[in-house]
Amino acid sequence: TVKTRFAPSPTGFLHVGGARTALYSWLYAKHTGGEFVLRIEDTDIERSTQEAIDAIMEGMEWLGLNWDEGPYYQTKRFDRYNQLVDQLLAEDKAYKCYCSKELLDEIREEQMAAGLKPRYDANHPRIIAANAAATEDSPFVIRFRNQKEGSVVFDDHIRGRIEISNSELDDLIIRRTDGSPTYNFCVVVDDWDMEITHVVRGEDHINNTPRQINIYKALGAPVPEFAHCAMILGDDGAKLSKRHGAVSVMQYRDDGYLPEALLNYLVRLGWSHGDQEIFSQQEMIEFFSLDDISKSASAFNTDKLRWLNNHYIKTSAPEYVAKHLQWHLDHQGIDTSNGPAVTEVIKLLAERCDTLVELADQSRYFYQDFSAFDEAAAKKHLRPVAKEALELAKAKAAALESWNTEALHQLIQQTCEELDLGMGKVGMPLRVAVTGQGQSPSVDAVMNLVGKERVVSRIQMALD
Ligand code: GLU
Repeated sequence: TVKTRFAPSPTGFLHVGGARTALYSWLYAKHTGGEFVLRIEDTDIERSTQEAIDAIMEGMEWLGLNWDEGPYYQTKRFDRYNQLVDQLLAEDKAYKCYCSKELLDEIREEQMAAGLKPRYDANHPRIIAANAAATEDSPFVIRFRNQKEGSVVFDDHIRGRIEISNSELDDLIIRRTDGSPTYNFCVVVDDWDMEITHVVRGEDHINNTPRQINIYKALGAPVPEFAHCAMILGDDGAKLSKRHGAVSVMQYRDDGYLPEALLNYLVRLGWSHGDQEIFSQQEMIEFFSLDDISKSASAFNTDKLRWLNNHYIKTSAPEYVAKHLQWHLDHQGIDTSNGPAVTEVIKLLAERCDTLVELADQSRYFYQDFSAFDEAAAKKHLRPVAKEALELAKAKAAALESWNTEALHQLIQQTCEELDLGMGKVGMPLRVAVTGQGQSPSVDAVMNLVGKERVVSRIQMALD
């Protein structure tokens, strides 16, 4: 059965590139009825933080990318890595290298000066000499003895067939002087031990793959399949970075996106299924395939993300939107306990809001009184032009017994008729009076939710 994993290094938050890789891994596992593993690659102790670990998991949880196994931590598996390093040493598939960094730097310079590609060359006379001169307590690293002949071939699900000659690959360090194992070794041991069948990861790792395949073979481990995802670029074509705005998944929550919208956005960012744009989670799982991931880089497009977010705000159950909106209402200091049901406000505003931040902000006048009207709107629609209309509408509102949208619609219509005014001449002043601004959904529906008491006192405030 299929088993995939997401293996972030906890040196920062979960960014959209990582989230997309995690999503593809997760989708492939779900699609095949397999399992998805979370592994924290925290061997870089200097740069790994608990904060980053928490942030990554928070991001995954928010997106709903639940893991079936883990989290595993590489720092808890050092004994296992060392056991296998020792095994390779005993089998002469790895060896101790006593060369100092200074010596290696010098050789590198020489190679470059001679127009050669700098690489570790075990047959270099100075390296042979240095290793021969080492004593028992000289510091050493352990290097993997890479094959010299032949080549490594693998069929990447995205990039197709890749073939690298072994002559290109030098003997890489698998354990450092301080005894800590290196990334390329740990990742192989983990993927083997965790029985990972498909490695989905960023293209930035594609050069590591042939080296890792040789390690699998040396360990006698089955080689998994690979899918290397292309980069995500900003809309200016440069590699996506903080400069392009929000890149942390949680920043998207803070900016008012629903997780479904971000997931839908991310799945389409480099994967397609015909020309379908909107995918429910069920559909993503059903249609996903590694072979349909694009091999060219994709550009991040905030407008499209906003469009998707608007779609999910409009089409999700208001109760569900309300659950996510609550965070923003709290954040904006809007107490909804003395006003209409949030779900009703959502129904009214969803159409016109691309983000939950906008939705929260727009919902303010349903719950909070204001002390001033939007200046331009007031100038155009309130005093003195609308005095008569507002006075009549106020009297009618105060006298209205059954407060509902239909009755309010009639109230406005009657006001128009009695004063021989057009709809706009009554509706607009009422809108400004009741909402404080020049734009809102249908004014009768808004008045209905704002409620009688507030409507009457706000019209009075507009008259004063
Ligand atoms: N820990 C690596 C990273 O965060 C990923 C390694 C892998 O997926 O094989 O870039």
